[in-house]
Amino acid sequence: MKKSNLGVNTICTHIGEIPDEQFKGAVSPIYLSSSYEFMDVDVKRYPRYFNTPNQDYLAKKIAALEHAEAAQIFGSGMAAISTVMLAFLKSGDHVVVQNDIYGGTRNLIEKHFKDYNIEYSFTKDLELGSFKACIQANTKLIYIETPSNPLLKLVDIEAVATLAKSKEITSVIDNTFATPIIQKPIDFGIDIVLHSATKYFGGHSDICAGAVATSQAHINTIWQTSIALGGSLSDFTVWMLERSMKTLAIRVKAQQRNAKKLARFLDQHEAVAKVYYPGLKSHPNHAIAKKQMKGYGAMLSFELKDYINASAFLKALKLIKPSMSLAGIESTMLLPAKTSHALLTPESRKAQGISDGLIRFSVGIESKKDLIKDIEHAISCTLNPELMKTNA
Ligand SMILES: *Cc1c(COP(=O)(O)O)cnc(C)c1O
Repeated sequence: MKKSNLGVNTICTHIGEIPDEQFKGAVSPIYLSSSYEFMDVDVKRYPRYFNTPNQDYLAKKIAALEHAEAAQIFGSGMAAISTVMLAFLKSGDHVVVQNDIYGGTRNLIEKHFKDYNIEYSFTKDLELGSFKACIQANTKLIYIETPSNPLLKLVDIEAVATLAKSKEITSVIDNTFATPIIQKPIDFGIDIVLHSATKYFGGHSDICAGAVATSQAHINTIWQTSIALGGSLSDFTVWMLERSMKTLAIRVKAQQRNAKKLARFLDQHEAVAKVYYPGLKSHPNHAIAKKQMKGYGAMLSFELKDYINASAFLKALKLIKPSMSLAGIESTMLLPAKTSHALLTPESRKAQGISDGLIRFSVGIESKKDLIKDIEHAISCTLNPELMKTNA
């Protein structure tokens, strides 16, 4: 695949800029036309053809970051995921899916694939053998997501990519949690990389978008399905996304630095029962993390000891927001049992290792000492509710 010689911060800042020929402005203009001339032009442009100037140019930045030949931007992560799945899976085909994946993706597969006569198998666990065991004669895709949500389990990307290649199966990864700053799956042989750009690409909790990065040939296939399903986005949002992505590398690195320190702090705290973070030596996939990730990401999960109520703890936080979603520059925490995994039965959650008190922590860019102080204070409040009143 194509690699740029530029450094990652230069790619973030400059690749995919639209030169402002008219006024020589420093940033890309926004082109809002939904109607472009069709005569004597090389490209017939239209928003739902995913080829307006802003879409076209931003795709170059995403492709460069992922070491891909080409990319395409969508109206949401799920628009990217569903379009790619339906581009490669036809009636009678089969897909092997990693067990721990984003709830929306699982919903797409379990609720809708039957209607399209698409077969699927979820792997028993994240080991290579479990992927192998699921492969059938009609398997067309292998789909992974690493690190996984919410327990931050890892899949060996290179091993799965190699397995897929040996069986002539297309491999797909949801790289939302790691971002290309931390992990470039195409370098490990993965065919197609997906993103919820709502998360780190956007990074400020104010954009909903998605993206795919892959070979030009695969983009051509995906494009055919894209124009039929129509999951494109407004050029206002594309422009916002371009602005956000200029700081992707510095944001993600700062968040990751904080996460590593917060994981260590929580791991040593007497009120914390368990911490899930690939950067901890105690994490079962620490060796895989070292092999395929540059750092360990900015997401972690933890459980407080039984004597602390997780909901009370979240309510007592003053700085860290108890919010849905993740990856913004502001730190957020949520309870998977009450949000992303609320529709599962308690037994099914337990089987997946998701306790009712499990807290998922999306670490932001705030000063580490303030985050630690906020957590310390919230723990004290849950143990002594009087403190809540006095400090309110
Ligand atoms: C949020 C998320 C998605 C879905 O993205 P939307 O932009 O909400 O459609 C897919 N995968 C992962 C890992 C996510 O976190």
